[in-house]
Amino acid sequence: MSVVDRQEWDVVVVGAGGAGLRAAIEARERGARTAVICKSLFGKAHTVMAEGGIAAAMGNVNAGDNWQVHFRDTMRGGKFLNQWRMAELHAQEAPARVWELETWGALFDRTKDGRISQRNFGGHEYPRLAHVGDRTGLELIRTLQQKVVALQQEDFKETGDYESRLKVFQECTVTRVLKDGERVSGVFGYERESGRFFVLEAPAVVIATGGIGKSFKVTSNSWEYTGDGHALALLAGAPLLNMEFVQFHPTGMVWPPSVKGILVTESVRGDGGVLRNSEGKRFMFDYIPDVFKDKYAESEEEADRWYDDPDHNRRPPELLPRDEVARAINAEVKAGRGSPHGGVFLDVSTRMPAEVIKRRLPSMYHQFKELADVDITAEPMEVGPTCHYVMGGIAVDSDSAAARGVPGLFAAGEVAGGMHGSNRLGGNSLSDLLVFGRRAGWHAAEYAGERASARPRVDDTQIDAAAAEALRPFSAEGQEPADGPPENPYTLHQELQQTMNDLVGIIRREHEMRHALEKLAELRARARRAGVEGHRQFNPGWHLALDLRNMLLVSECVARAALERTESRGGHTREDYPAMDRTWRNVNLLCRLSDPSGGLAAGDPVRGQISLTRETTEPIRPDLLALFEKEELVKYLAEEELYE
Ligand code: FAD
Repeated sequence: MSVVDRQEWDVVVVGAGGAGLRAAIEARERGARTAVICKSLFGKAHTVMAEGGIAAAMGNVNAGDNWQVHFRDTMRGGKFLNQWRMAELHAQEAPARVWELETWGALFDRTKDGRISQRNFGGHEYPRLAHVGDRTGLELIRTLQQKVVALQQEDFKETGDYESRLKVFQECTVTRVLKDGERVSGVFGYERESGRFFVLEAPAVVIATGGIGKSFKVTSNSWEYTGDGHALALLAGAPLLNMEFVQFHPTGMVWPPSVKGILVTESVRGDGGVLRNSEGKRFMFDYIPDVFKDKYAESEEEADRWYDDPDHNRRPPELLPRDEVARAINAEVKAGRGSPHGGVFLDVSTRMPAEVIKRRLPSMYHQFKELADVDITAEPMEVGPTCHYVMGGIAVDSDSAAARGVPGLFAAGEVAGGMHGSNRLGGNSLSDLLVFGRRAGWHAAEYAGERASARPRVDDTQIDAAAAEALRPFSAEGQEPADGPPENPYTLHQELQQTMNDLVGIIRREHEMRHALEKLAELRARARRAGVEGHRQFNPGWHLALDLRNMLLVSECVARAALERTESRGGHTREDYPAMDRTWRNVNLLCRLSDPSGGLAAGDPVRGQISLTRETTEPIRPDLLALFEKEELVKYLAEEELYE
């Protein structure tokens, strides 16, 4: 048996971004002894990079806003594929979560009369994003960390130990969820610095590991986004929902190559920035789809008037949902009207005085000055689509955040599916983290409390298997010659990213996705031979070799689901099926591991590791449907749904 450090907790939260920390705070406040594990340093989660703001219908800037309007916008943005109950809870609870942050010490930007200021963003009818300049995520994480410390200080007073009820394990990677029969019994992981293995035993595990962007070559995501939580859930037997929906943010940097993909926040457009092609044309007016025609301005004059008088003018088409803007930019570049480095121009310099730009968009000013030597107060930025967010994720119960089919497993944040349907609106992630992070922590604590006297048993053979799996990259040198030579994990990663970018990217074609699946099968076989030299003390090559399993699993889910869905909707665009098809409106695609035992085998090299099933979504509750005009519903819902 492997000798590993073992500890007992009530709730283990994997991930210390906004969702993980909010879950941990809630679980601890509800009496559960809670451990939080994160891959990077505490505080360096993806959430910290969030720029534009948190969407919540507080109505501070326009009193017309309320949860019903936010719900409507979210459903429209997701093209009605959202798990509607999640969208309802999210819209209803987001304001309370933002006010709660304020009571915990968050310092938001203010309106003139002292309320939390809210800004415009794509797809939101009213100014709705509570923000701190363009560094909102930093303030969110700082506040949640401060709350964690405050709780630890309370615990110290009572128990003499700061970490008795809430402990953070930083720079640790979880590689397996352990199970006792069907239910969760804990997690297996390793410390990145020492390479030492550990097990945290717990009846409830919350997955809050964020997204999958590192499977794509051009991405706004950082090194941590390797789809670990998605893969952990799959391997534990939970299904992933609608993985074909990947958001390509319309505005990433395109130049210089070393920074390609880094995000240019949507606030630039929310605050007045416009998109132009190489002919100087504001091209977005040519790309307003029929479903949005009556909501967006038809002329530049009307669009510009909207910034001062939103009640009597329609919004600029630069603020269409992200999928629409990304496709439009892609089309302009393809038509030969792109910028010198393969993007388009995003201009604030002619729209706002320099000091306003520096005050409202300080990070963007510095980002372009330092990384591209571009002064955005004097010249336009060059921007193009970048892989940004995954709408697909672990299938969860809307109210409790419980993962389907695996008792004791919960999921919140970007790793959970359903909330955003086929396309997420900007700002709706930070609010999602808070609303469903809290719900996951609450229900995980409740679940663990109910099992306090009958805790699940951790199976030593699972620990041994997980340790052997983690050590395999060190023994690749000793493989049978027939297996082929050891493979370099960095080369495999690059090939994977190129494959996903080129063949399952922003515009998809059947033959390319089939080719991608063949390439993924080849990479999977080669990844079994991913070899590393040296030892377990901080060895990034080894870490990447382990992350490859997750990226390959998740990429296969994306490619299989994208091939199956023969329509274009939100973050899934098929060149061969360019229209949204109402008969797909109520269809969810679920990915499961083909080997339901969750075994450590790499799966059938030809058929792959993932099996796909279709499921009909639950009908939208009538009182929620009544929030929309019938003329609008006709554009989305199938005949039989309308009839019902
Ligand atoms: P994260 O914040 O990414 O946290 C994931 C955590 O999981 C990390 O602590 C990581 O270390 C840990 N982890 C991962 N794998 C493992 C493992 N195997 N073992 C242990 N720990 C693990 N959204 C908005 O709503 N508004 C915005 O303005 C906005 N701006 C953005 C700007 C940028 C540049 C980017 C990239 C995203 C932005 N988003 C925005 C999206 C939003 O930031 C993310 O969707 C959100 O922060 C995800 O939060 P999370 O808690 O789910 O995950």
